[in-house]
Amino acid sequence: MKPIGRASVAWAAVLTLGAACLPPTEADESIARQPEAPAVAMAWAAPVPTPPAAEDDAAVVLVVLDGVRWQDVFVGADPHLVSGAAPSAAALMPHLHALVVERGAAVGAPGRGPAMSASGPNFVSLPGYTEILHGRRTHACGDNDCAATLTPTVFDEAAAASPGKVAFFSSWERLDRAASARPQSLVLSTGRTRVWQGEQLASDPEMRDWLDRGAAADPAPGWGEFRPDRFTAALALKYLERRHPKLMFLGLGEPDEYGHHGDYRGYLASLRACDAVLGDLVATLDRMGDRGAHTTVLVTADHGRGRDWRHHGLEFPESGRVWLVATGASVKARGLVSATRKHRLADVAPTIRQLLDLAPDMATTAGAPLDELLDAGPLATAALSP
Ligand SMILES: [Zn+2]
Repeated sequence: MKPIGRASVAWAAVLTLGAACLPPTEADESIARQPEAPAVAMAWAAPVPTPPAAEDDAAVVLVVLDGVRWQDVFVGADPHLVSGAAPSAAALMPHLHALVVERGAAVGAPGRGPAMSASGPNFVSLPGYTEILHGRRTHACGDNDCAATLTPTVFDEAAAASPGKVAFFSSWERLDRAASARPQSLVLSTGRTRVWQGEQLASDPEMRDWLDRGAAADPAPGWGEFRPDRFTAALALKYLERRHPKLMFLGLGEPDEYGHHGDYRGYLASLRACDAVLGDLVATLDRMGDRGAHTTVLVTADHGRGRDWRHHGLEFPESGRVWLVATGASVKARGLVSATRKHRLADVAPTIRQLLDLAPDMATTAGAPLDELLDAGPLATAALSP
C-alpha cells in the first residue's frame, strides 16, 4: 500500500488502511478483513462546548508511548547500540525523569518489586492497548488484526458519565478499534484521517490546521494512515487547552516504528520528541487553572521490546515488560515505587475509574487500581536509578 499523496488527502476523509505496527506484507493481508471504517461525524455549525467556570472535579490524561522499553526509561540508552557515551535516562528523557523525581511516581523500575507487564501472551500493540483501555487481563483481541471492540472501554464509560468531555488522539490509525465500542460518543482522531466528532476540532482554527497538516503529512516513519507524532501531539495538546476534557488519550507511535526499522538512533530521537511532548503537556496543564490542577497524568507503554531490541511479540516474552509513570492531582510524589504486587496493563483502566469516580469493573479478570501511586503505599527513594 503506497502512502497517500498530499494532493489526494482531504482531512475529513476516512480511509481504511493497514496498521502502522505491522510490516507492509502482513498489514496488506489484513486490509480485506478490516471492519467497516467509521463514518465521519461532521457538522460545521455544531456547538462547541466551553469549559465551565469551576472545574474542581478530577480529570485524567493517559499517554501511551508505543513500544518504549523500560530500559530506556529507567536506565538509559543501550551502550551496545550507540557509538560514544550512552545517554542516561535523565539525559534521554529529562521531562519524564523530572516528573518521577519531583512531582510523581513510577512503577516497573528494576529492583522495585514485581515487574509490571502486559498480560499477553502476544505482546503486540492492539492487544496491549485493548488491555489498557478495558482493564481486563483477558479479552477478545489477540493480535493487530482483531476487530473493533464491542465491549465498552473506560473511555466509553467516561463519555457516558461526562458527555462531550472525552477525547482520543493517536498516531496509529488502527487504535480506533481499541478505543471505544461507541466511537461516535468521543472526539476521536486516530491516524491521519479517521475522525469522529470532527466538528469539535475543525471549529477551532488552530486545531483544524493541525488536523489538516497531519492528514497531508508523509506517514514516515510509519506508513499507510499513520500520522507522525508531532501532528498528533500538537492537535491533542491544543484540544486539551481549549476544551478541558475530563478524560483524554494521547498515543504516540514513532518509537515502535523506528524499532521495527532497526534504527536505534531514530528511536532515541523519537524518545526525546516524546519527552518534549510530556514537557509541553505538563506546561499546558500548569496553564489550565482548576482543570489542570485537578488532572492526573498517566504515562505507560503498550509493550516493551525483545532482547534483540527490534522486535516484540509472542516469541519475545521479555517484551511483555512495561512501566508506568504518574503525576498530577491524585498522585503522591514519591519517585520510584516498590510495587506490593505484580502490576499489569489491566490495572490502568481501574485506576482511571477510581480517579474519575466511575463504577469499578467486577469481572474476575479485571485489574485493580495502582494503589501505590494514589494512596499510602510503601515509600521509595526519589532517585531515578535502579
Ligand atoms: Zn511494533
